[in-house]
Formats: sequence, structure tokens, C-alpha cells
Amino acid sequence: MELEERSVEELPDNCSSCGNPLTDAEKEAAIVEGTDSPEVLCATCADEQVELDPDQEG
Ligand SMILES: [Zn+2]
Repeated sequence: MELEERSVEELPDNCSSCGNPLTDAEKEAAIVEGTDSPEVLCATCADEQVELDPDQEG
């Protein structure tokens, strides 16, 4: 079983949405979630992303 180790150094220093500086915890969260996207959102924007569900039925 191989695990892909990703370093926070590979991640951007700022939120891809609002541009706020990312904390180490927010970077680590992005790694844990295993996103394939190079974009990293701060906790605030990430929370908004969850709420904005494009598949939601209105
Ligand atoms: Zn943000």
C-alpha cells in the first residue's frame, strides 16, 4: 500500500478564492482531503464551498 506524500511546500501560500494567507493547518487540511486541484481555499472559503452545493435541489 503506497501513500502519496504531499508537502505543504507544494501548496500556494494564499487562498485561491479570496487571497488571504493560508495557515499551515489549512494547507494540511487540503492535503488530508486529497484534492487533486492545485487550488487551496482558506477555512472560510472552504466552508462556503460546502454550502454552495451545485447538485442541490431547489
Ligand atoms: Zn479564502
